[in-house]
Amino acid sequence: MPRHTKIVATLGPASSDAAVLERMVHAGIDVVRMNFSHGSAEDHVARANTIREASARVRRPVGILADLQGPKIRVGKFAEGRVTLHKDAAFILDARCALGDAGRVGLDYKDLPRDVKPGDTLLLDDGRLKLVVEHVQGHEIHTVVRVGGELSNNKGINRQGGGLTAPALTAKDMEDIRTAARIGVDFLAVSFPKSAADMYMARQLMRAAGGEALLIAKIERTEAVANLAEILEASDGIMVARGDLAVEVGDAAVPALQKRMIRAARERNKLTITATQMMESMIASPVPTRAEVSDVANAVLDGTDAVMLSAETASGQYPVEVVEAMSRVCLEAEKSAEVTLDREVLDQVFTRIDQSIAMAAIWTAYHLKVKAIASLTQTGSTALWMSRLNSGVPIYALTPEAATRNQMTLYREVFPLLMSQHHNDRDVLLWEAESLLLDQGVVTRGDLIVLTIGEPIGATGGTNTLKIVRVGDHPAPQGCEAGAA
Ligand code: PGA
Ligand code: MN
Repeated sequence: MPRHTKIVATLGPASSDAAVLERMVHAGIDVVRMNFSHGSAEDHVARANTIREASARVRRPVGILADLQGPKIRVGKFAEGRVTLHKDAAFILDARCALGDAGRVGLDYKDLPRDVKPGDTLLLDDGRLKLVVEHVQGHEIHTVVRVGGELSNNKGINRQGGGLTAPALTAKDMEDIRTAARIGVDFLAVSFPKSAADMYMARQLMRAAGGEALLIAKIERTEAVANLAEILEASDGIMVARGDLAVEVGDAAVPALQKRMIRAARERNKLTITATQMMESMIASPVPTRAEVSDVANAVLDGTDAVMLSAETASGQYPVEVVEAMSRVCLEAEKSAEVTLDREVLDQVFTRIDQSIAMAAIWTAYHLKVKAIASLTQTGSTALWMSRLNSGVPIYALTPEAATRNQMTLYREVFPLLMSQHHNDRDVLLWEAESLLLDQGVVTRGDLIVLTIGEPIGATGGTNTLKIVRVGDHPAPQGCEAGAA
């Protein structure tokens, strides 16, 4: 049985080398995340080419996700690169300070003094340091150090409870969206959205630049949790961005939120990526901790489409081993997962013909215990609906569209395959689909499969036919050689 949960791996210095990347793809990554916080447009173009070459060499489809930097609020630089803050000391965040020292540091978001008030708790460097605001004086925020430690250049600032007003899309993000469109990325992750409007805006900019990427909203602000339903509506998927989210809502609230967010997304036919610190110790260790193994397995049991690696593959010492370990943990968790069709999804009212066929196909496949589902799809929507139901049956999604193939890399339980040609003859097409599955070794002669197709052939959103087929039972159509693809 192939692995149903997908793996997203972040590209960085540890994984930019073509040979290493190729080994990572071989080890099982499905989507590569390019962090737009680092590098120029030309760097991104070059990285995308390296990813596509690795994917072609390994003959495994790999999606590309561009992750925008967003309005992450950061401290400025220090004269010495870093300082140590001591508990109970006074420390000033100063919007006009150029180079910091032990007493003050600059801010990249100049309006921060307007956004905070006495008593607010500010968390620095993913919550490692804690400052409490005493008072605000013009461009200076006077604080007292509650939890000290080392603070170095450009570390992030969050306010406990959220509520900072920096807009979701910065000027840099808008420029980066154009670069992402030019590259033709498959997914665009928007950082720190607060509302559906932020996602509509990102989609508009992406479309205006000619990009077709699916939009992923990173849920990492308190406001985004409150607006989850409308953000889901405006997006194709969400990322449970536990790094910043834990700082804003408190770490203890995150596990329950993760479950709620994944459930809400699945019910609305949306995708989910569970992210951050999943295999953190493997940055420097060849094996994960017991807690990390449990975390990844639990995300699988929650029903996430994908689990994500950040620093583990971007800057860690074991970029290949961590993918292997994650893959192994997912596979085992999937074996133990209860396979029952998702009632909540099943009980929805379907008014579309293609969606009804998708549901009927899954119902049939589940009860007949068929080997596989083969779905011939133009846009991937039939495969997406099927993948929301948790049937336990692998869904092979066959498409002539390269863009659709790449977007489906993120769908749980879905295995995208590119059909080589556009055919208008239904019999030839079905025969070709069957040959492809045989070729890939996913079915053998005599296996029962469920097939969906749209007629007339080639129309978008036209899935209207469900067929139950015993592989190899019918003769090759005229002009096709038996046994050959
Ligand atoms: P980041 O997003 O890695 O870009 O910060 C993910 C997160 O916050 O968890
Ligand atoms: Mn984040």
